[in-house]
Amino acid sequence: MDSQPTLTLNDGRVMPQLGLGVWQTPDSLAAPVVGAALEAGYRLVDTAAIYGNEAGVGRGLRSTGITARSLFVTTKLWNDSHGTEAPVAALDHSLSRLGLPAVDLYLIHWPTPARARYVETWRALIALRETGKARSIGVSNFTTPQLAQLIEETGVVPAVNQIELHPRFQQRELRAFHEEHGIVTQSWSPLGQGKLLDHPVLVEIARKHERTAAQIVIRWHLDLGLGVIPKSATPHRIRENIAVFDFRLDEADKARIAGLDDPRGRLGPHPDDFN
Ligand code: NAD
Repeated sequence: MDSQPTLTLNDGRVMPQLGLGVWQTPDSLAAPVVGAALEAGYRLVDTAAIYGNEAGVGRGLRSTGITARSLFVTTKLWNDSHGTEAPVAALDHSLSRLGLPAVDLYLIHWPTPARARYVETWRALIALRETGKARSIGVSNFTTPQLAQLIEETGVVPAVNQIELHPRFQQRELRAFHEEHGIVTQSWSPLGQGKLLDHPVLVEIARKHERTAAQIVIRWHLDLGLGVIPKSATPHRIRENIAVFDFRLDEADKARIAGLDDPRGRLGPHPDDFN
């Protein structure tokens, strides 16, 4: 299990490339789900204050006897906590719910441009990293101009930008910007919320490799060098989604999946409109 792939962040820290997403996993279910994921070999869990399950995630993290040092926990600052002071309290609340002294990665969940406080909020995260309560800091759902502004005004490049990314919405331009600036791209809704998995191209590639379509899509993210955080609350799918380290896609598979990109493929809100 320890041989799973990792990504090195621009602050020198190492993050597992694959993790478990827990959006829409109820707090009451989060502990057994996270416990099952750790048993299956996952070492990264992606939660957020707004998911309402940090307490359950924390119980799950403590349920297996795996040392906290070998785990990687991400949580996110919700939109109502932008500012200079609010992020300090928001992170403290998240840590007390998680039962942890620090998170491995703290993200600004959305830029919420109508608030116009994301640069100030980013400065607050930079200060939180200094305290050690957030070991690495990054953002989520930031666009190219918003990232450029953060970098220009603070000189600190986010370690990660977690964005909607799946075969129907491949985000090539944003990925290129990330690469140029040393930002790790982490894909949310990596399976297209499960809606992509009966696409004939994916089904065919899955049959060829004797894998499931979910495994093909997760492998595609890994082969592109992206972080990937598929969500499942079903133990057999949790295991299936991490059983992807012993095969690779070939060039023909990748070309076919590249062809599924669609400018109308976005499933979530546009970051400029979500406040
Ligand atoms: P996803 O693409 O991971 O799809 C999850 C759904 O796919 C499941 O609910 C299930 O229906 C299906 N599925 C999962 N594994 C399967 C399998 N092996 N076979 C068949 N079906 C399977 O969608 P998601 O939950 O939206 O995204 C993953 C994670 O990304 C979230 O849990 C959350 O942690 C994160 N996320 C972040 C943001 C953000 O704004 N930063 C937004 C959305 C999601």
